[in-house]
Amino acid sequence: MEQILRLTPYFSHTIWGGSRLRSEFGYAEPGDDIGECWGISAHPSGESTVTGGPYDGCRLSELWRDHRELFGNLPGDRFPLLVKLIDAKDDLSIQVHPDDAYAAKYENGSLGKTECWYVLDCPEGATLVAGHNARTREELRGMIREGRWTQLIREVPVHKGDFIQIDPGTVHAIKGGILLLETQQSSDITYRLYDYDRLQNGKPRELHLDKSIDVISVPAKPVEESVVSFADAPENRLIRLQECRYYKVSLARVNGTLTAPLNNPFTNFSVVSGTGSVNGLPVRKGDHLILTHALTHLTLEGHFEAILSNP
Ligand code: ZN
Repeated sequence: MEQILRLTPYFSHTIWGGSRLRSEFGYAEPGDDIGECWGISAHPSGESTVTGGPYDGCRLSELWRDHRELFGNLPGDRFPLLVKLIDAKDDLSIQVHPDDAYAAKYENGSLGKTECWYVLDCPEGATLVAGHNARTREELRGMIREGRWTQLIREVPVHKGDFIQIDPGTVHAIKGGILLLETQQSSDITYRLYDYDRLQNGKPRELHLDKSIDVISVPAKPVEESVVSFADAPENRLIRLQECRYYKVSLARVNGTLTAPLNNPFTNFSVVSGTGSVNGLPVRKGDHLILTHALTHLTLEGHFEAILSNP
């Protein structure tokens, strides 16, 4: 069985995107509005395809359908996760995602969206939005209806190496200058509360105030639980960043050699800096791999950082 799949990403162009995914990650994607690189995705809005080996050219959804053994015969009607790089040249809209139950009912059976971020780079003094200050749903409704955004949203300072878990119902926004890796459920359902009155092709993007008010958790979880720093995480061992019902996410900071047993159905693997090798396969910044069920022992060599995830 194939042990490692190498993927070619899908790119999404957005009003807030930039060009760092090309200039810093080496992707041959034109344009100065590249917002997202969907490195590991089987979502119908943008799929990764396999490059090289016996599955060359296959879409990830096809492999999930026809070669489930690669994924440890994990049950499920769709590949469950999506891994993205996000370059926010400008602020993203203030938004919130539904949970599985709400999405299944109101969004044609879609999954809800739990997501998490690992900050790869940001300017000095950077902040992002995580949570809000309303104490009751009434107060929340009033602040949204009256557009009292500065009062409503909670901005938190962030630094390179921070990790942020965004549960469904959490008001959030990535702000300009931040480059991050997002691991999320394979869902594309976003409710936009506020878009800074920006125009796209001459028109404001759609807002979804009623659905937002429906799904926002009140009160928000405490600010000190939102952001955790892994800037000083040790090298050459797998560091667990998060474990929730949808995913387990780990950081590998390789300086020399890292070895570890793997007993996941499969593992998403994205290289976010440096160069090296994964079980002998050369990798560099910007590479996205799936370590299939057949790979039971991991040997990482070189000088690089990678984010791993599995269901
Ligand atoms: Zn989001």
